[in-house]
Amino acid sequence: MFVYIDGKFFPENEAKVSIFDHGFLYGDGVFEGIRAYNGRVFRLAEHVDRLFDSAKAIDLVPPVTKEEMAEIIKETLRKNNLKNAYIRPIISRGVGSMGLDPHRCAKPSVICAATEWGAMYGDLYETGLTAVTVCVRRNTPDSLPPNIKSLNYLNNILGKIEANYKGGDEAIFLDRTGKLAEGSGDNIYLVKNGKLYTPPTINNLKGITRQVLLELLDKIGVPYEVCELGLFDLYTADEVMVTGTAAEICAITKIDGRVIGNGKPGAVYRKLIPAFQEVTKNEGDAY
Ligand code: PMP
Repeated sequence: MFVYIDGKFFPENEAKVSIFDHGFLYGDGVFEGIRAYNGRVFRLAEHVDRLFDSAKAIDLVPPVTKEEMAEIIKETLRKNNLKNAYIRPIISRGVGSMGLDPHRCAKPSVICAATEWGAMYGDLYETGLTAVTVCVRRNTPDSLPPNIKSLNYLNNILGKIEANYKGGDEAIFLDRTGKLAEGSGDNIYLVKNGKLYTPPTINNLKGITRQVLLELLDKIGVPYEVCELGLFDLYTADEVMVTGTAAEICAITKIDGRVIGNGKPGAVYRKLIPAFQEVTKNEGDAY
């Protein structure tokens, strides 16, 4: 694998950053997770926009333009000869002193890696995931806003650790007030009486796959509502599912021991999967 770092490609074992990079020292930086399908980058412009918005929110000025960033992503795919891939662009604060003041960092670093990565949940797309709600709450929008896709993913990782101990394939986060937020790396939805519901994106990331799913709902004729939801809604739903670039769309069939619906991925999920495969196969920026 070749990794892009600040203008050059390095073989994987030579792709190194300084331990004084504040991305490493403090999680001071931002990133994206993007997929390419069939030689095209899916929703490239949206991912680059979100990367730049995350950077803006942490007062980091990227040393490249959006157009250059998009080209770096495509070049990384070409260089690695990948047709179907998961891509990880990063903009870190750069090398600084041991102190945390970002003003002491000379220049942000731009990094891009890409790798083959198939269906993240393997066979579980057929059976559905077992999920657990976790004690740790999602970061609040007035502390570390979940909309910043920052290199500090510890909140998500704490949820994942807890889910692992509790035997869940995925963690479901509530916010400070007990409202449904999101999964550790995906947005969440429920279906009740033929309508889909999802929380607003204040306590969770504005998922690009979320946007795709909402567009697909119009196509498959399922109405939806964005509204605050709680545990009761989750436990009594007919269907629950999550979306993310890595996870794509995956059903959840058990939550905290409660069987969701009839315990199998539901009708709306089954309609969404082929519709999603259709757009991922045919859309996107060719490279
Ligand atoms: N929430 C979190 C915390 C995530 O890490 C991700 C993955 N980027 C998502 C939601 C889903 O976002 P997207 O569909 O843009 O990948």
